[in-house]
Amino acid sequence: MHLDAKIPSGPLSEKWDRHRFELKLVNPANKRKFNIIVVGTGLAGGSAAASLGELGYYVKNFCIQDSPRRAHSIAAQGGINAAKNYQNDGDSIWRLFYDTIKGGDFRAREANVYRLAQVSNHIIDHCVAQGIPFAREYGGLLANRSFGGAQVSRTFYARGQTGQQLLLGAYSSLMRQVAAGQVSMFPRREILDIVVINGQARGIVVRNLVTGDIESHEADAVVLCTGGYANVFYLSTNAMASNVSATFRAYKKGAFFANPCYTQIHPTCIPVHGTYQSKLTLMSESLRNDGRVWVPKTPGDKRPPNQIPESERDYYLEEKYPSFGNLVPRDVASRNAKAQCDMGKGVGETGFAVYLDFADAIGRDGKGVIEQKYGNLFQMYEKITASNPYETPMMIYPASHYVMGGLWVDYNLMSTLEGLFVMGEANFSDHGANRLGASALMQGLADGYFIIPYTIGGYLAGTHLPEVTTDHPAFTDAVRYVTERTQKLVSINGKRTVDDFHRELGHILWEYCGMSRNDEGLLKSRTMIQELKEEFWNNAVVPGSSQDFNQSLERAGRVADFLEFAELLVMDAFKRRESCGGHFNEAFQTEEHEALRDDENFCHAAAWEFKGDDTEPERHQEPLVFENVELTQRSYK
Ligand SMILES: Cc1cc2nc3c(=O)[nH]c(=O)nc-3n(C[C@H](O)[C@H](O)[C@H](O)COP(=O)(O)OP(=O)(O)OC[C@H]3O[C@@H](n4cnc5c(N)ncnc54)[C@H](O)[C@@H]3O)c2cc1C
Repeated sequence: MHLDAKIPSGPLSEKWDRHRFELKLVNPANKRKFNIIVVGTGLAGGSAAASLGELGYYVKNFCIQDSPRRAHSIAAQGGINAAKNYQNDGDSIWRLFYDTIKGGDFRAREANVYRLAQVSNHIIDHCVAQGIPFAREYGGLLANRSFGGAQVSRTFYARGQTGQQLLLGAYSSLMRQVAAGQVSMFPRREILDIVVINGQARGIVVRNLVTGDIESHEADAVVLCTGGYANVFYLSTNAMASNVSATFRAYKKGAFFANPCYTQIHPTCIPVHGTYQSKLTLMSESLRNDGRVWVPKTPGDKRPPNQIPESERDYYLEEKYPSFGNLVPRDVASRNAKAQCDMGKGVGETGFAVYLDFADAIGRDGKGVIEQKYGNLFQMYEKITASNPYETPMMIYPASHYVMGGLWVDYNLMSTLEGLFVMGEANFSDHGANRLGASALMQGLADGYFIIPYTIGGYLAGTHLPEVTTDHPAFTDAVRYVTERTQKLVSINGKRTVDDFHRELGHILWEYCGMSRNDEGLLKSRTMIQELKEEFWNNAVVPGSSQDFNQSLERAGRVADFLEFAELLVMDAFKRRESCGGHFNEAFQTEEHEALRDDENFCHAAAWEFKGDDTEPERHQEPLVFENVELTQRSYK
């Protein structure tokens, strides 16, 4: 099948403008005739629902949590990128575009990334108008800080709570539309199937998580903004409810899944400390503006950090990458931390940690300045570890954090299933094989505030959409499928907890498909995942009933999907015969142990088509054409 990305023709900088002009419009009165389902209320979903409601469409907005404000986006700490160049330090739309393409190891679409950089500046204006309390310089201009993979300061922030503040802005706009009757909110609902009629996405089936009822909702188009699947690793920095279920069920209904093996391991998280831990905590990348990463030069050196003299410390990132230093991109920083620990130079009780040290910055700027920038992060660190980072270096280690893989979408953000749009972390994104810090919030809000309002209009105006109701047999079939599956889960009556299966799955993926991958491990993990899945359906214990509030059942459904999806993830990793960004196959590395791409054979997005439960999925390719940047070996030296 030919994957048509529908990239507009013309010069890169004019594509989006031209496309917006060429897209068909829905006139204001006709907008009232359309119903749109938006699943998700994070930065992507919340901004989309608010914008579409404001335009005059009728929107139904769904989320798992009891309030849209509890979407995982609220956890975002460090900031959001934009090419405003307030610092006068050389930034531009072109530089943001280039940094993002290079940061993603040349595995993203040029046209999408350029549009993202263009739109970034509008996002900041929009959010300032909403009243987002971004940090400001003394003179009143918005302040910026640096994030990995960039040599300019372009990250706008609200202390370490940027996601929360941005989400409150989107939520305010959303609630305005709820009050105006344009948006209807459906909290505590979990999407369990997409309904396809005549090849078009025309509705969803959800489970009411409070009553257990299965509900059907029809629409003219469906927009999925259900976040990422990093929790497939069990331990991750994501919210506990983050899942793959929504996108995976859509995959089974015809939406291709792209690059599932592009997962991001973030270098600065609080290290794992116990077998029964269920969550990991991020220490924002912004900390690497001032924190210096180091390990003892001598393997096995167990002295406390303040007893290790300067001459015996290895500031390995500054040494190896003098141009970017501690602010190399995440994939590079993570692999280097792992390499140091593998050499026996890791610190802390487990030896799986490196130091992030603020002593120099505190000496230079004073404790007050550091506290002003990162106070809440330091407080969080101290609460979790009982160690004061103003006095003792933080200990950090890489952890699963974000996914660049997701449902394949074209330039209009439409998946291969007509009428199904996918946005935010749920789509296969503009970040290629590695996302740069502070770019996810930018992408989610670009999609929701500035892209979907145009492209969905083009779709609705140009598509024949016969009237459908939830009485249609496709809804009946979907309800039957969902009910049977839910019933099957509560009837397994096994002995092993769902969490235990999830934990084992996480171990398998972390071991064989984590920061470093090899063919033997990938093949082995596939078999292990298949066996685990088999055991799950025979031996999981899911207490309670399906007709009630039942969090065990919710988790079981998500873990069942993770188990199926994990196989696709390792298969994708195996088939990509190169290393790029977060996907590092040990067989493909440079002499300096950096990821080695194969541009001749793998300069494409891989998009998987579901072919049935007992049939291998088919791998399709969307070639990535670079007309404006030169493909080079990525270097941060
Ligand atoms: C700790 C942390 C810090 C971060 N900091 C930054 C940062 O500083 N800058 C940056 O750019 N990025 C950051 N990120 C990444 C960024 O926060 C996310 O990529 C982004 O917020 C995702 O937004 P989203 O709208 O796509 O999805 P989410 O915010 O995850 O929202 C998903 C929505 O979908 C709903 N949903 C999910 N599944 C279902 C289902 N099956 N049925 C119904 N509803 C469903 C949820 O209820 C929720 O409303 C951070 C991530 C983490 C984990």
